[in-house]
Order: sequence, then C-alpha cells, then structure tokens
Amino acid sequence: MKKQFAVIGLGRFGGSICKSLAAEGMEVLAIDQDEEKVREFSSIATQAVIADTTDVKALKGLGIRNFDHVIVAIGDNIQASIMTTLILDEMNVKHITVKAQNDYHEKVLRRIGADEVVHPERDIGVRIAHNVVSRNVLDYLELSDEYSIVELAAGDKLDGESLIDLDFRSKYGCNILAVKRGDDIHVSPRPEETIKSGDVLIVVGADDDINRVENHWINDED
Ligand code: ATP
Repeated sequence: MKKQFAVIGLGRFGGSICKSLAAEGMEVLAIDQDEEKVREFSSIATQAVIADTTDVKALKGLGIRNFDHVIVAIGDNIQASIMTTLILDEMNVKHITVKAQNDYHEKVLRRIGADEVVHPERDIGVRIAHNVVSRNVLDYLELSDEYSIVELAAGDKLDGESLIDLDFRSKYGCNILAVKRGDDIHVSPRPEETIKSGDVLIVVGADDDINRVENHWINDED
C-alpha cells in the first residue's frame, strides 16, 4: 500500500513538500487553516482541507492517526506548531517531522515527541555562510552538527601531491571520497593518485578537521 502523508501548514516550506510528494505520486493530505491556501492546493494534493490543527477534535476528525508520516510546517506561530506536535504525539502518529524556527523551538519539539526536526532556514544559512567565508569551499553538506562533506578546490599548494603523502586520514582524520577532474570523477581514489591544481576534492570529516585541511592546504592566506 502507498505510504500516506499529511502536511500541516502550506507556507513556502510545507507547500513545496506537498508539491514534491504529489509529484512523486504519493498520497498527500494538505491541511491549513487558511482557506486560500487550501484552495491553492486542492488540485495538487490528494485532498486539501481547512482545519486548525491545535484543535484535537479537528485532527481526530481527519483520521490523522492513520497517516504514516505527518509533516508540521507551521513556521511563525511557534505555539501552534508545538500544540499540533503534542496532539499528534498523543494520538500516536507513527512519524512526525516538524519544522523548527530556532534552537529553543527545536528542543521543545524533541521533548514532546517529534521524531525529526528540520531547520531549513538555519541549514541554508550555514551553507551560504560557509560558501561566503571560504570561497574555496564549492559545496557543503552537513551530515550532523559535527560532520560534513565538502567540495574543496585544489590550488597550487596541492599540485603534484599524492594522496598517500598528504595522508589526510592520519594527519587530519578526514577522508577523500572522490577527486573530480573536469568531467571525470574518481571515486575512492587510489593512494598513489596525484592531485593537480584545479581538481576538486570531496572530503568527509569533522568540521574542525576539515577546517584544518582548508587552512593548511586550500586557503591562500596560510
Ligand atoms: P514558510 O517559512 O515555510 O514560508 P510561512 O512563513 O509562509 O512559512 P507560516 O505563517 O509560518 O508560513 O505558516 C505556514 C502555514 O501554516 C500558513 O499557511 C498558516 O496558515 C498555517 N497555519 C498556522 N497555524 C495553523 C494552525 N493552527 N492550523 C493549521 N494551519 C496553520
């Protein structure tokens, strides 16, 4: 049977989740207290309904407990987001994902039963900040609070160095997952592989360790 999703709050975030799920052919119930929003999604979602999800009766009436995954995308109204999450948890909804506005909101959500808390604004902010701070970081994927995968642009400093001599693993605790050279990508590169200026290194490790690699091998100012 198809997995059934419900999205509460059809702002930019909830709306785009709703559209993506519908585009993937999933069953999705779109919920918002705003009639306009619901009208907008009536032709996109499997079903779209007007409801205030801080009202237990309204949620019960929608049979929300039968959904496999409920996404709470109420942004600005933190109180409504918390109330909704609490009610969903009390109804034993299997999987609850909630969008948090800030760290305190996130802490509360985790305590009251959110299975997953997402922080889209903060994550995008971190990503942009990282790209701005270090122009040699081409892309950035946060794996957790501590670990990331980054793409680093190799310059002259790394030109001609072999991976075995660099030994990022024992010197910095980082691993090079792949080396991109033009259109070629060498996944799990051999230790004797030599880096050329202009290569892109895809590195995984703790943020602090990646920063040390960046400072020593990538940034000009060092
Ligand atoms: P985003 O940052 O994702 O764009 P937004 O700022 O556009 O969000 P918000 O006002 O934060 O939107 O809330 C998202 C949606 O949640 C709105 O469309 C709002 O009507 C809806 N919403 C807020 N409170 C409730 C509630 N108690 N029940 C149902 N829907 C709600």
